[in-house]
Amino acid sequence: MTESSPQNVLIIGSGPAGLTAAIYLARANLKPILLAGVQFGGQLMTTTLVENYPGFSEGIQGPALMAEMIKQAERFGTEIKYETVQSVDFSKKPFVVKANDTTYTSKSVILATGSTARTLGLESEQKYWGKGVSTCATCDGAFYRDRKVAVIGGGDSAMEEANFLTRFAETVYIIHRRDAFRASKIMQERIFSNPKIKVVWNSEVREIVGNEQVVTGLALFNSLTGETTTLDVDGVFLAIGHVPQTEFLKDAVDLDVHGYVVTPDDVHTSVEGVFVAGDVSDPVYKQAITAAGMGCKAAIRAERYLSENL
Ligand code: NAP
Repeated sequence: MTESSPQNVLIIGSGPAGLTAAIYLARANLKPILLAGVQFGGQLMTTTLVENYPGFSEGIQGPALMAEMIKQAERFGTEIKYETVQSVDFSKKPFVVKANDTTYTSKSVILATGSTARTLGLESEQKYWGKGVSTCATCDGAFYRDRKVAVIGGGDSAMEEANFLTRFAETVYIIHRRDAFRASKIMQERIFSNPKIKVVWNSEVREIVGNEQVVTGLALFNSLTGETTTLDVDGVFLAIGHVPQTEFLKDAVDLDVHGYVVTPDDVHTSVEGVFVAGDVSDPVYKQAITAAGMGCKAAIRAERYLSENL
């Protein structure tokens, strides 16, 4: 099925970036269509208590926050379609977006498909997700005051997460599979000079161990000695990279070597009329509030673009 007349604006993605863009565009009476995708609501749908989103002094559960954002977007006339985009064609105008059984055409597009945290692929990781396993120290670090935690990874994210966690935790172990970090030198220096951080080299996480409720430790395989030992920790932070959701965008807009959407100017992509917001173009901040802020900016830019190109 092909929609007959082109839409003003299509938003692809239903996390804080996409929904904030939808709220602004709907209030501007541009009748946005939001393609929500399968992982509807984004990463906050798998988050428990969110304590750093302004406006909720007691915190709010991730799914409840997303439910509020959806209601707010719909209240002003956003049409939400629970469809997944398969392909796009931005080489001609109006742009073409194919999702499930529908082919949409649109004068402008906002990309807000987010990213997913890379995981180790262990069953125990799923079992203890939200019960000691996390991918966000900024979100969950405060739960580990005077406890022992481990950060997995050897890049800038792992260094940053480990440093941040020393504000709360008694000891922070960085578990790395090799004998050298890929993180920038300055980030490494901060790690090595922090007395609360201990580095465990050449070690792979074989299992996350725990009781019925929470994580109690890690089974670590040392690739030099061939031994597996248990390290007692109360929390595990995975910092082994994120994967931006840009598979369907290949050749449509410029992507960097990691697959993030390149932004030559703020929320503009390499294609005029296609804007971007949130983690899909942000390997650094990765916060709900920064994604929402970018969603607002993308909506305002799209609105201006539409008024100048009618
Ligand atoms: P990254 O640079 O890709 O590093 C991922 C780390 O995780 C690597 O050390 C890698 O080990 C390890 N790893 C990957 N898969 C693993 C697995 N299955 N098991 C165990 N370890 C695994 O990712 P990132 O640290 O998230 O950084 C992404 C980008 O954002 C980078 O360009 C980074 O510089 C940037 N960033 C910048 C800042 C900042 O400037 N403040 C902060 C955060 C991120 P190997 O080294 O062995 O491959």
